[in-house]
Amino acid sequence: MFSNKESFKTSFLKRLEGMYGKVFKDSTKREQYQTLGNMVREYMSSDWIETNELYRSDSNKQVYYLSIEFLLGRLLGQNLLNLGIRDVVVEGLNDLDIDLEEIEEFESDAGLGNGGLGRLAACFLDSLSTLNLPGHGYGIRYKHGLFDQKIVDGYQVELPEQWLRHGNVWEVRKPDEAIEVSFWGNIESRNENGRLVFNHNATEKIMAVPYDLPVVGYETTTVNTLRLWNAEAAHNPPHHDVLRYKRETEAVTEFLYPDDTHDEGKILRLKQQYFLVSASLQDIVSNYRKKNHTLKNLHKEVAIHINDTHPALAIPELMRILLDEERMSWDEAWTITRQTMSYTNHTILSEALEKWPIHLFQPLLPRIYMIIEEINERFCKKLWEKYPGNWNHIENMAIIAHGLVKMAHLAIVGSYSVNGVAKIHSDILKNREMRNFYEVYPDKFNNKTNGITHRRWLIKANPQLTNLISETIGTDWLKDPYQLIDLKRHAYDPALKEKFDKMKQERKAILAKRIFEQNGTIIDESSIFDVQVKRMHAYKRQLLNVLHIMYLYNRLKEDSNFKIHPRTFIFGAKASPGYYYAKKIIKLINSLAEKVNNDSEISKVLKIVFLENYRVSLAELIFPASDVSEQISTASKEASGTGNMKFMMNGALTIGTLDGANVEIMEAVGRENMFIFGLTAEEVQCYEEKGGYYSSDYYHHDSRIRGVIDNLVNGFFPDAFGEFDPIYDSLLGEGDQYFVLRDFSSYVEAQERVDKAYYDREKWREKALINIAHSGYFSSDRTIKEYADDIWGIEPVGIRI
Ligand SMILES: *Cc1c(COP(=O)(O)O)cnc(C)c1O
Repeated sequence: MFSNKESFKTSFLKRLEGMYGKVFKDSTKREQYQTLGNMVREYMSSDWIETNELYRSDSNKQVYYLSIEFLLGRLLGQNLLNLGIRDVVVEGLNDLDIDLEEIEEFESDAGLGNGGLGRLAACFLDSLSTLNLPGHGYGIRYKHGLFDQKIVDGYQVELPEQWLRHGNVWEVRKPDEAIEVSFWGNIESRNENGRLVFNHNATEKIMAVPYDLPVVGYETTTVNTLRLWNAEAAHNPPHHDVLRYKRETEAVTEFLYPDDTHDEGKILRLKQQYFLVSASLQDIVSNYRKKNHTLKNLHKEVAIHINDTHPALAIPELMRILLDEERMSWDEAWTITRQTMSYTNHTILSEALEKWPIHLFQPLLPRIYMIIEEINERFCKKLWEKYPGNWNHIENMAIIAHGLVKMAHLAIVGSYSVNGVAKIHSDILKNREMRNFYEVYPDKFNNKTNGITHRRWLIKANPQLTNLISETIGTDWLKDPYQLIDLKRHAYDPALKEKFDKMKQERKAILAKRIFEQNGTIIDESSIFDVQVKRMHAYKRQLLNVLHIMYLYNRLKEDSNFKIHPRTFIFGAKASPGYYYAKKIIKLINSLAEKVNNDSEISKVLKIVFLENYRVSLAELIFPASDVSEQISTASKEASGTGNMKFMMNGALTIGTLDGANVEIMEAVGRENMFIFGLTAEEVQCYEEKGGYYSSDYYHHDSRIRGVIDNLVNGFFPDAFGEFDPIYDSLLGEGDQYFVLRDFSSYVEAQERVDKAYYDREKWREKALINIAHSGYFSSDRTIKEYADDIWGIEPVGIRI
């Protein structure tokens, strides 16, 4: 049905009539989208079935990637691209007077994640399939993904997200493969032939019903599966209050928790985590059992990866299955479990480290709690042998201490591999944050620098740049992004530079149009597009960016000789609904936008845009149009960042601290092709350990800082009296935890270098092209190959023709 445009058109019209009982001319755009989506899903099904058959029949090792988030975005465009049928579809639709991009807008983003962590999981799925690696995703089918953000009077307002309102053409419900997950109840132990056995009684059971999504690789026949679990009432609810039971059951997969790098500690969240883990582990084991009599060699054919600590209960859950169902000895079960599980750490922020109070944990998951207790006891005993008498040390490392279950400790102890997500992050884990554990398990720790799929973030998002690159170096890079390095030879070619400029201009015009439609703001398309898009968080320091803009405003007002290249500062960020401070920063950006954009003089040089509801589909419009990438976190706080890589790949230059993957971007492109500023991670850590930073000194000794800080509270923002006091207080009274004022001067100076560099347009374009040339390393294909080789031990499966 996609072999040529005539057969496509015939199938499309027939399918549309079949699905909706109307002729083409009466159909809506949404119906056209759904029709096309259905055709594409069906087109993949034979390869999907064959891939599954292959996995069922052979004994190659497979990986199961467990993640509480998958931030997929839209799937139609990516699927058309990966299947190689986009051109046929575009041509066929054109004949029918349909614009593909227009109907793509009718697909809701699958926003089942908060930010970087969930998006990484989505990029990994794309790479696994493309590399023909046997990899399955397991996640939760949240009824409502991350909230929709509206900006009202400058404030963030959250609305429930409704991605399933019109159905989801990609998913396949598999009610026959539903699995029961048990909560609450009590544990009964008895002696059976000299062995203690445990029964879990009076449980409340929830059905986990799988919804499968096909994950199609780029120009290959491998179609992997992302299995998302939906919570539903069991068929014979044991409960006396059936309505309440049903309500509470469905609540388990109702909402995604909107907290990014922050631990909420709510019992529903723990329920979600065990729901995901238990359903997935039972599923994995039952698939394995179909091929093997015992589970003794599970680790030889199965690798289970836990993306951050949210699925860390996979460790005691596998123990439960091996002990209680398989009747293995503890030692045997533990050996298998530890050879099966691997774990990625995503953050060192202490507020993000999950710790569950025993009083919540134990009643909800009594058997799992018992098993964790046993793991902890045996672990502490081992520590005692290594550090006899050192109670303090052992207490610090224990999995259970002070009434809390520490999930990161459980994940480290119960797995064979612990990795960070950028070199600097992995080093901080080894040398500081998890140093105690590194001493005990030096061989477990390793680094896997994050990556992004160039198929979504370059080929799909930026066809203009894609064509330009292919015209210049051929098309081999599409499958092997390292070959982008060939661009380097051409970086000084005037013709290429001119074409690059034309591409950027075209992309900037597309974004400018969107900004006008969304915000009503007219922006200067020849201005520098300076962009900071990511979750709103104090450590990411959107505030530093804002203070710099306020400084520019003051300087332009005071000094008529001060000249800068016109700039448009673009922001996109959702704040966690309960994160008061982050919401204040959103209001501050919008108040400043109001002030700057309505100033007839200043707005000729400066514009500020806050794009509401930042998400994957919006991101795809933003990265290609960017000139400057803001990656200005407090050094040591951003584990990796992946937005930084998307900008780089689209030819934006980075202004950033030596944090996360920025360090490796710099190693790749050279310091001269970026704008590095600020404290280093060592310097930040030195202050944190020894003290010695007094933000008020910087306020008193730098008149630029004094000016902008005073502006927060002196009526500079009309109608916002008292509004920004908390920001003022955080910077002065509370000691400026994220070193905003400490890095201010260095940041201003780096921004001056940006301004100066942009005047030398030839050089700027060279730098941009050099950035693109080195971006191949940051493809998630490289990252996934490293996971496959070094951690999982999996190999590509035979592709069929
Ligand atoms: C890439 C991405 C992120 C992560 O951005 P960082 O700058 O690395 O924090 C967050 N949200 C969306 C929608 C993304 O595409």
